[in-house]
Amino acid sequence: MSLRILVTGGAGFLGSHLCDRLLRDGHEVICLDNFFTGRKINVQQHLGNPKFELIRHDVVDPFKFEVDQIYNLACPASPVHFQYNPVKTIKTSVIGAHNCLGLAKRVKARVFQASTSEVYGDPTVHPQPESYRGNVNPIGIRACYDEGKRAAETMFFDYHRQSGVDIRVVRIFNTYGPRMLASDGRVVSNFIVQALQGEDITVYGDGQQTRSFCYVDDLIEGFVRLMNCEGFTGPVNVGNPGEFTILELAENVIRLTGSKSKIVNRPLPQDDPLQRQPDISLAQEKLGWEPTIPLEEGLKQTIGYFKQHLEL
Ligand code: NAD
Ligand code: UDP
Repeated sequence: MSLRILVTGGAGFLGSHLCDRLLRDGHEVICLDNFFTGRKINVQQHLGNPKFELIRHDVVDPFKFEVDQIYNLACPASPVHFQYNPVKTIKTSVIGAHNCLGLAKRVKARVFQASTSEVYGDPTVHPQPESYRGNVNPIGIRACYDEGKRAAETMFFDYHRQSGVDIRVVRIFNTYGPRMLASDGRVVSNFIVQALQGEDITVYGDGQQTRSFCYVDDLIEGFVRLMNCEGFTGPVNVGNPGEFTILELAENVIRLTGSKSKIVNRPLPQDDPLQRQPDISLAQEKLGWEPTIPLEEGLKQTIGYFKQHLEL
């Protein structure tokens, strides 16, 4: 069945891959974005498609569309970008979620929230199951994002309990792939861009902190399965449990690019989580989902993209 679907943040990294997938599945897509970190070029392949509409709009300002489903992805995701204007970040998360929920209630749409592993903060439980309530510093420099996403989850579940809104909540773990901005600031794109340009690879701290990296195609499959799964709201972790130190990531990127770049150490940012790895048993059980693309394969794809898109 062809649905009309709103994707907020649809011109961003994940949003544009989601638009590709939904259009490929035969749906109509309304892509709403304020182009803070998103770009028209990410969706330009759809601009002549009558099933696709691109709208410049800020999720903080109310909006109305007759839609069947809403995916709420609008929010800067990289620490560099979400700390650029922290007040705007928390407003985007909280008021953006409120606007999506109000619309979903009014038009009886199913609404999906792109939440994050950041709700677990600097976790003291490892790997992180959904039942873990987290260790977030509420007044730190990451709080505009972490607490914004936590408050958005609260509002999703309150609208669900209070008004019966049909919600889906995914907690996304570090995801990478083509269409990340070269200036995004997140670790995978930083290292690849630095390696390809022969610049120093900037490892923050001693590089012993860990992350678990999911390739974008796997993540989008998880999104679509959750959105179309009956009787299950989440929250559910979606990510790749393969855990690497940041130093290992740097070494992998150097090896796969054949770069002569040197690794240099830079100060560790405040509140940088020491470890992160998803427990994905709930996604396996409820969605029959697990990642299929190992880090090496995903890095090769991403390196290929940056080779084509960087002025080298
Ligand atoms: P991104 O920065 O590429 O995408 C965010 C998009 O939202 C951009 O297109 C941006 O222009 C848009 N946007 C930002 N503020 C907006 C506003 N006020 N109004 C309208 N549009 C706005 O980042 P991404 O990695 O694609 O992240 C997408 C979503 O997934 C975000 O909500 C993020 O918090 C979540 N997420 C991503 C990851 C990841 O590893 N990629 C991890 C956890 C959560
Ligand atoms: N990081 C790094 N060098 C960089 C960018 C990031 O060492 O150039 C580290 C960062 O300190 C963190 C990890 O890589 O420990 C992941 O950072 P990212 O910003 O990608 O995501 P998040 O911290 O939100 O997981």
